[in-house]
Amino acid sequence: MANKLIYFFGKSKTDGGGDMKALLGGKGANLAQMTKIGLPVPSGFTITTEVCVNYYKNGRKAPAELAVDMEKAVKWLEKEAGKKFGDVKNPLLVSVRSGARDSMPGMMDTILNLGLNDATCEGLAAATANPRFAWDSYRRFLQMYGDVVMGVQKKNENDHEPFEEVMDALKKEVGVKDDTEFSAANLQELVKRFKKLIKDWTGKAFPTDPVKQLEGAVFAVFSSWMNDRAILYRQKYRIPDEWGTAVNVQAMVFGNMGDDCATGVAFTRDPANGDNVFYGEYLVNAQGEDVVAGVRTPLAISEMAKDKTIGAAHKELNDVRKTLEKNFGDVQDFEFTIEKKKLYMLQTRNGKRTALAYVKIAHDMVKEKLMTPEHAIKSGDPEALNQLLQPIFDTTAYAAATKEGRLMAVGLPAGPGAASGAVVFTAGKAEELAAKGQSVVLASLETSHEDLRLMIASDGILTARGGVSSHAALVARQMGKVCVAGAGDVEIDYHKGTLKCKGVTLKEGDFISINGTTGEVFHGKIATADSELKQVLVNKTMKPKDSKVFQYYDFLMKLADKYRTLGMRTNADQPDQVINAIAFGAEGIGLCRTEHMFFEGDRIIAVRQMILAKAEDDRKKALATLLPYQQKDFEGIFRALNGLPGCIRLLDPPLHEFLPQHDNHKGQEEVAKQLKTTVAEVARLVSELHEFNPMLGFRGCRLGILRPEITEMQARAIFQAAAVVIKEGIKVKPEVMVPLVGFKKELDLQVEIVHRVAAEVMKATGKKFAYTVGTMIEVPRGALTADEIAESAEFFSFGTNDLTQTCLGMSRDDSGSFLPAYQNLEIIKANPFASIDRTGVGQLMKIGVDKGRKTKPDLKIGICGEHGGDPTSVEFCHIIGLDYVSCSPFRVPIARLAAAQAALRHPAKVVPPKVIKDSKAKTGSTKSKTSRK
Ligand code: ADP
Ligand code: MG
Ligand code: MG
Repeated sequence: MANKLIYFFGKSKTDGGGDMKALLGGKGANLAQMTKIGLPVPSGFTITTEVCVNYYKNGRKAPAELAVDMEKAVKWLEKEAGKKFGDVKNPLLVSVRSGARDSMPGMMDTILNLGLNDATCEGLAAATANPRFAWDSYRRFLQMYGDVVMGVQKKNENDHEPFEEVMDALKKEVGVKDDTEFSAANLQELVKRFKKLIKDWTGKAFPTDPVKQLEGAVFAVFSSWMNDRAILYRQKYRIPDEWGTAVNVQAMVFGNMGDDCATGVAFTRDPANGDNVFYGEYLVNAQGEDVVAGVRTPLAISEMAKDKTIGAAHKELNDVRKTLEKNFGDVQDFEFTIEKKKLYMLQTRNGKRTALAYVKIAHDMVKEKLMTPEHAIKSGDPEALNQLLQPIFDTTAYAAATKEGRLMAVGLPAGPGAASGAVVFTAGKAEELAAKGQSVVLASLETSHEDLRLMIASDGILTARGGVSSHAALVARQMGKVCVAGAGDVEIDYHKGTLKCKGVTLKEGDFISINGTTGEVFHGKIATADSELKQVLVNKTMKPKDSKVFQYYDFLMKLADKYRTLGMRTNADQPDQVINAIAFGAEGIGLCRTEHMFFEGDRIIAVRQMILAKAEDDRKKALATLLPYQQKDFEGIFRALNGLPGCIRLLDPPLHEFLPQHDNHKGQEEVAKQLKTTVAEVARLVSELHEFNPMLGFRGCRLGILRPEITEMQARAIFQAAAVVIKEGIKVKPEVMVPLVGFKKELDLQVEIVHRVAAEVMKATGKKFAYTVGTMIEVPRGALTADEIAESAEFFSFGTNDLTQTCLGMSRDDSGSFLPAYQNLEIIKANPFASIDRTGVGQLMKIGVDKGRKTKPDLKIGICGEHGGDPTSVEFCHIIGLDYVSCSPFRVPIARLAAAQAALRHPAKVVPPKVIKDSKAKTGSTKSKTSRK
């Protein structure tokens, strides 16, 4: 490898910095940054992510120079720390820590106290005059090293951790409850048993040479990049496998030397609700993951101020809190250790937070000038905004439950919102009930990385142990799950499958309700109600000025609107949907599916008459019955739009969708009655309409071409509605959209009808109105011949659902049987029906845009497939220069934020005006293309 493999951070020099996350990982980059700004960080070095990438490229082999460079690095660290590796008098101990570009908390492995063996342990005991501490550190090292490097791990899900089992046995023998109660002699015995466990389990002795230990640990960290946990995590959060992890080797500091020591985790603000309070917890005389693992329930950080021995560190931490926010421009989630009253910083990163905390923090910190508006936009997870629409408890039901004395326990509020569902203890039960659409609440003593799947399946999470930075709380916040942590009164018996509290016993499957905003746990069901945001925007039962949540959300959305260049539209076909979407920020309709209106009330009878009519006259008669219905629908929509553009698609689905199929005899009987004909006749007609491949059959514009009277009726309904609404003084902007066009001639035939009808209606009503006619681009031929089609189209809208189906030759509805396997095999990285397949479908879109605008530089182009509400697809639409995206009403806020992020990530290229000397030089259509952004 040509590049530098190792970067130092320490007193004598620091190579890296906070902006080098890709190379040094988030942890390494920020350790360097904290060192640079003068925070107390134990010295160390970072092996770059490139080394890890290289390691995998070469079939899990590290570059040859690594050993040499590591030796040098260790020498440097020895000098920095004033201690020596393997020195029996004053041994240097290090931690070996993973750290990818994006933090993946707890997903990969960390090893502490590396450098210990029988000899150095004795040395450490003597040097610190604290044998208990030395043996405690040693047993922890054996435990981590044995697990991570040597593979001493439980074999089945229901087994106990082998090291824990050995430790529990000793606890019983000695008669203690907590590991802190072990004496030095007990711990020495534990070390003996751990070594035996490793030997028995692996057949190999534990390596005593610190250099060998270090080598093993570094490779184990590389390998942990590909463990199941890490892979699952990356899939969920779309972190590419190619990034790799860095490895940090850092001098140890000790929180487990006695009562003047501690270790803790803190947030500069509350990550659950965003409040500007110092938030965190710590454990006296503890090390490493103890706080997060929920082994003992930690103390709140405010308690530290009252501690006579380490109280001074609290003030120091408060200063650190301010320094961090100021320097990193965001809420920080940090780890610290106090060794003999001295504070050390071990990690900092931007804190993961709930959506509620995100909008509040963005609002507050931008106003406090601690965060840039750009960062406020860029750092959000658009998808997570859904959490703001999550239900809360219904006020009446909540009050009733309290009055009935159903409150069982109060834990820590760790993930806001309300969840009411069946209590579950096992993954099997959770997935079984969740699959049935039942909401489930996971109850657990504590959770660990192994429970990830179980947590994904649950709506709410309740733990009996652990604090606000426990694993459960951390993951819940990140996934946006309702969570109550550390409800100590709750007793869970996994064997009996029961949860007991205050004399109430719940079995798995019984109802439980938790309030993640207050920490309350109730038995039984409690009805839920709409979130504040919904109450303000949708139900209008709450005034904006009465909802703080709305105000924070609104601040952020308005900020997003400043940056985004994409327009926002919605897919809606009812006035109420349109009104909701506008409240969420939509600026028009991108797709109004007219066929949805065909199913309402009695209209379906006329639709069926129209379909089954043999003569054109009968068909026209049936259509005439439908016309007033459609017109009324469009009037409603135009009124709701109140002057915003509305893109209405002509009839699209294959006609059989309107009829009961052959296996529905009862339905056919009904139709026969409705249409005054025989069941046999209906059955005959249904089989006549049967298609082998309806998705590619008689549908889309093909319907309007063979049965022009349908297009005529729909156009008439649209324009007559427009005339009526204009008369009421409301502006209308209809856009008529022809589906499934692959040939210019198809569009021409439909456009002609629409124009003729428009003229007729204008003449008959005496009302003038502007309208446009365009097409969906949803078959490959349409995209490939977009230059021709654009001659007849005033706009394009990408129907990416069908475009994906036809580009991939893959039916969305039939893909369930193979698509998951395809994703596992990484043939396809993401579900192409959820996120645009950029290289394939995206290429067709790009061709469509380029060719379309070559013919018409100002051609308006949008997207109306499901992808319009998917953040990465929105980004793609921005990149290829679409004018707007359209999505379902409730996804509009998500798309708004995603569009703003896209605009910040891919700013418009400002083309400097060229001084053209040769007056005959090209002056193509490039001007209008670049000027649209
Ligand atoms: P994770 O990525 O899972 O957070 P870390 O690498 O941060 O893992 O390490 C796990 C724990 O070990 C943390 O609590 C951290 O504070 C502690 N730790 C890591 N390095 C040191 C060190 N040099 N001295 C003391 N504690 C450490
Ligand atoms: Mg780790
Ligand atoms: Mg950490």
